[in-house]
Amino acid sequence: MSGTPTTFGSYSTTEVAGLPATNGPSGRKPGSGRSDLPVDGGVNGEMDELARDAVADIEDYWSAQFPQSFDGKQFAPVKRLISYDSAGPGTQLCGENTAGLTNAFYCPSEDVVAWDRGQLLPRLNASFGPMSVVTVLAHEMGHAVQTRAATVTRDDPVIVQEQQADCFAGAYFRHVAEGSSKYFQISTGQGLNQAMGVLNYIRDAPGETDFTGADAHGSAFDRVSAFQFGFSDGPRRCAQMTRDEVRARTTQFRFWKQQQEQDLPVDRRSLDAVSDSLHEVFRDTGAAPPKIVAGTQACGARKATTPAAFCPETNTISLDIPELQRIATPPRKGSASGYGDFAAYAQVASRYALSVQQSAGLRLDDAQAGLRTACMVGAWSGLLVEDPIGRRNPVGKLRIAPGDVDEGVAALLGDDSLIAANVNGDQVPAGFARVEAFRIGFQQGLNPCTTKYAD
Ligand SMILES: [Zn+2]
Repeated sequence: MSGTPTTFGSYSTTEVAGLPATNGPSGRKPGSGRSDLPVDGGVNGEMDELARDAVADIEDYWSAQFPQSFDGKQFAPVKRLISYDSAGPGTQLCGENTAGLTNAFYCPSEDVVAWDRGQLLPRLNASFGPMSVVTVLAHEMGHAVQTRAATVTRDDPVIVQEQQADCFAGAYFRHVAEGSSKYFQISTGQGLNQAMGVLNYIRDAPGETDFTGADAHGSAFDRVSAFQFGFSDGPRRCAQMTRDEVRARTTQFRFWKQQQEQDLPVDRRSLDAVSDSLHEVFRDTGAAPPKIVAGTQACGARKATTPAAFCPETNTISLDIPELQRIATPPRKGSASGYGDFAAYAQVASRYALSVQQSAGLRLDDAQAGLRTACMVGAWSGLLVEDPIGRRNPVGKLRIAPGDVDEGVAALLGDDSLIAANVNGDQVPAGFARVEAFRIGFQQGLNPCTTKYAD
């Protein structure tokens, strides 16, 4: 199985960057055996074997890919792999004490990849499955790749290094998704959703000074985007991630003021502010604004979607306020809470986007309608940020911060959001395609939503 990488051009709802959208198994390939890479300090348990085979597989990929991507240069394997238990007695590793260091990292000065087999890896494996461990190692190996290819300089901000590492990880995952990996397999639907979902849990680079503040690794949105660029366009795209390219594209730099994120409670006042903002952003389309009402409303034989429903016949959006309030509850460890306020308001916006599509005579009930909706919600979101470069002025009074966009991305990668759903609440299976559509709107505005996601 293979495919042509594309970022622009065809936006098929049955493909993910040129590969078929699949929901098959993800994880180890049955009967694929084990690698014999030596690991120092390990106990040869399941987590050590998984991490070791991940590195072996990633090195196989780069051995083949590196010369093609970087002027014929050969890829040298990393010098040492080290396993430690952050709950055990600490030892010195690359200037860090491993006691309490729930981490995985690449250390350039010693050319070492190290992981915490005791806490971090089992936790990721239990929450997101084995491919989350592979994701982490692919990111760390991405740092080894950038060191070898010299695609960053010492002066580059941490976020440039991190964006490249996420991008290189995405390039490797394409190889896995194409079925070319020796040890692993991944579906382009649920499998990639989980791999991308885990990116935001990686906080490596111990001891590095942050160049741009506490979030120098990038927002979840930036990280998922970098992964997608690598997946779609390959390692050379990653090498183009320079200081200027990253500055122009990422939310990290776009939000010029460190805006204090304040969650808006789901109440009359907030909903009015959201509705005003939608009116203003979509005013130029000439569409008649829908009526927005609280409580479930009958809509012929149509089954209401939740937490918001659009009734095309009456041009009305009805809201399930308690459910919106649940979704707006910020995520907390170990409790079944929501995603945060923006994830709730983005779902209201998605139903509003359907109303705009109806006015334009577009279909509301197919897969394209879902992606078009995500793109239009992205366009609305992109006009609520303060832009440091001044290419576009924000619209209306409502403003969002990087954390808000990340709530939207988390919801887009989940199974149950309306942000990329059509009028019946159906979303395309690949979160990859959903986030991509949202990003296109966020960065490019409304126009591509109807041209790239045409009926
Ligand atoms: Zn990193």
